[in-house]
Amino acid sequence: MKRVQQQWRVFLVLLIPLALFFAVGGIVFLFPHEDVLHLVSFLAALLLSLAIQVAVFQRHLLPNAVALLKFKQIVAEQDRGAQLLVRRDLELTRANERLRNLDEVKSSFISVVAHQLRTPLSGIKWTLNLLLKGDLGALSPEQQTFLFKAYESNDRMIALVNDMLGADRIESGKIRYRFAPLSLLEVIDAVLFELSPAASAKGVTVQFAKYPEGLPLVRADAEQIRAVLQNLLENAIKYSRAGGTVLLTLAAGREEVTVTIKDDGIGIPREQQKSIFERFFRASNAVKVETEGSGLGLFIVKSIVEKHGGRIWFESEEGRGVTFYFTVPVDTTSAQNKKTV
Ligand code: ADP
Repeated sequence: MKRVQQQWRVFLVLLIPLALFFAVGGIVFLFPHEDVLHLVSFLAALLLSLAIQVAVFQRHLLPNAVALLKFKQIVAEQDRGAQLLVRRDLELTRANERLRNLDEVKSSFISVVAHQLRTPLSGIKWTLNLLLKGDLGALSPEQQTFLFKAYESNDRMIALVNDMLGADRIESGKIRYRFAPLSLLEVIDAVLFELSPAASAKGVTVQFAKYPEGLPLVRADAEQIRAVLQNLLENAIKYSRAGGTVLLTLAAGREEVTVTIKDDGIGIPREQQKSIFERFFRASNAVKVETEGSGLGLFIVKSIVEKHGGRIWFESEEGRGVTFYFTVPVDTTSAQNKKTV
C-alpha cells in the first residue's frame, strides 16, 4: 500500500516540472517578445524544469534505485546461502549415513568378538572348575591358590564381555523386553543368595529390610530387572570397605515401587557425579581401590530402568557411601495389586 502511494507521489512530482516547462514554453510562444528574451525565457524554463527533475530524481528515484540494487544483492547473497545450505545438508546427510554404517560395523565387530570370546572363556571356566574341585587329581594349596586367581580373572573377563554385549545390544536397540507382572521380592531373594559369597569374602553385611505388607507386583522384565539389582548390589559390595554394610529397602506407592540400595563405602567425588551413568566412566577413587571394571554397568542399568518407565538417581558424599534409588511401575492389571494397592 505504502509502496503504491510512493509511486504516485513520484509520478506527480515528475509531472509538475513537465507541466511547468510546457506552461512557460506556451506563454513565451503565445506572447510576442524580442528574440533574445524569447530564447532566455525558454532556456530558463528548461533549466528550471531540469533542476526540478534532477532534484526529484535524487530525492525519490536515486534512493529507490540504490535500494533496489542492494535488494538485488541481498537476494543474490541469499540465493548463494541457500545453495550452500543445500550442499551442506547433502554433505551432512552423507556423513551421517557413513557414520551409521561405521556404527553398524563397530556394533557387529563388538558383537562377533564378544561372542567369539565368550565360548572359550566359558570353556576355561569349566576346566578351571574341574581342576579346583579336584576332579582331575589332588592339588597342592599353592596350586589351588593360583588356580583360584585364574578362575577369578576369567570370571571378570566373562563379566566384561557380557557388559560389552549388553551395552551394544542397548545401543543398537536389539533388546526385546518381555513385560509381565513380577514379584520383586523373588528376584531380590535370588540375587542376594547369589551375591552372598562375594559379600562375605569382602566382609560386607548385606541387609534387606523386608517390606512389611504385601508388596504390589511390578510390571517388568524379570531378567532385565535382575540385571539391574545385581549390578547395583555388586557395585555396593565392590565399593564398600571391609566390615561395611549394604542396606536394601523397598517402598511402594500407588504407581511405582522404589528400590533403595545404600552403602557406606568410598562414595563418588562430587565433581564426577554428573558423568556416572556415561559409558566407560569410572570415578578416580573407584579406579584406585578396584582396578577391574568396565564402567558399563550403570549405563546399562539406567537404560533398563528407563525402558521400564522408571527413574534412577543417587545421592553420595565421597568417603561416606552412595545411596542409589530406582523405581519400577506397579502392575495395575494384576488381580493381586487391586487388593493390595
Ligand atoms: P564399574 O563398576 O565396572 O566401574 P559401573 O558402570 O557399574 O562400572 O559404575 C561406574 C562407576 O560408578 C564406578 O566405576 C564407580 O566410580 C561409580 N560407582 C558405582 N557404584 C558405586 C558405589 N556403590 N560406590 C561408589 N562408586 C560407585
